[in-house]
Amino acid sequence: MTPVIILLQASRALAPTERLCRCPKCSFASHVDAARNVGVCTREGCRAEFCPDCVSTPHSGPCKTPLLATPTKRKKAPLIVGSKQSKRNLRRL
Ligand SMILES: [Zn+2]
Ligand SMILES: [Zn+2]
Repeated sequence: MTPVIILLQASRALAPTERLCRCPKCSFASHVDAARNVGVCTREGCRAEFCPDCVSTPHSGPCKTPLLATPTKRKKAPLIVGSKQSKRNLRRL
């Protein structure tokens, strides 16, 4: 059995509205409340609540800073070399 099939079978046990992610504090499996969009750690003694998208303190409303939308490696806009030079050339003409 491949790990992919095991993963699919595990996800089938969950309700469609439920998600699982890791607790940012203890990395234990956490239940995500889809209605509130708040993750709650299932470990006794932790019970940490967090936003599952930004893995930060829970906040009302949709997450505005999802991890995927804020990549650490940002591509800088390519410098247009010689743009000023070409404008000068046009003025001369
Ligand atoms: Zn926890
Ligand atoms: Zn968030």
